[in-house]
Amino acid sequence: MGNEGNKKRKLGIMGGTFDPIHYGHLVAAEGARHHFGLDSVVFVPAARPPHKGNSSISHPSDRLNMTVLATGSNSNFEVSDIEIMRMGPSYTIDTVNQFRRSRPDATVHFITGADAVLEILTWHRVQELLEICHFIAATRPGYRLENLSGILRDLPSQCIDKISVMEVPALAISSTDIRERVGKGMPIKYLLPEEVESYIYSNELYI
Ligand code: ATP
Ligand code: MG
Repeated sequence: MGNEGNKKRKLGIMGGTFDPIHYGHLVAAEGARHHFGLDSVVFVPAARPPHKGNSSISHPSDRLNMTVLATGSNSNFEVSDIEIMRMGPSYTIDTVNQFRRSRPDATVHFITGADAVLEILTWHRVQELLEICHFIAATRPGYRLENLSGILRDLPSQCIDKISVMEVPALAISSTDIRERVGKGMPIKYLLPEEVESYIYSNELYI
């Protein structure tokens, strides 16, 4: 078999709470897909992220539905319910391993915003995680990338090589802000796809 036959596909994974999904997530995922030549990006809504404690998070089925609505117009985007089906909090390493088992022909590229990558890189099993996947950290307004260089300094060089920082158009949009806006009756139009906006209102989320 020639080299072409062995060429691995590149799979992007975009994890998040997606409560709700917004243009910041979509711009980061599409930017990573283009910049790193990913074949597809799978959005994986989290069951209940360990770092978000017990604060109330919308029902997984609502977050999954909104993610499906938001990604429908991009043929390179997919949505996976593996974390939601697993029940209880998931670790990134378990999710990455599950994708590696189900798609052995692909290398995994985990896409996060600059804030989330900082949390993951301070995790105790980070070296193990970096052995099995690449990290793409998208810039995000309000988060200082300088903090990242401090953490990278302590990692072995083969780990650092697995982390890329990517500049995306700065969108100061967060799910927290969108939830607060809905609660206050302020507009959320143009911050997220219209299908998601309609879903929020028809299902009376965040009020
Ligand atoms: P919340 O305010 O509830 O924390 P969020 O807007 O931060 O929501 P998450 O679901 O927590 O959204 O984020 C999922 C992933 O998307 C994280 O890696 C996060 O860093 C990234 N992300 C979120 N918003 C942006 C944005 N505006 N630009 C770049 N990356 C983003
Ligand atoms: Mg967040």
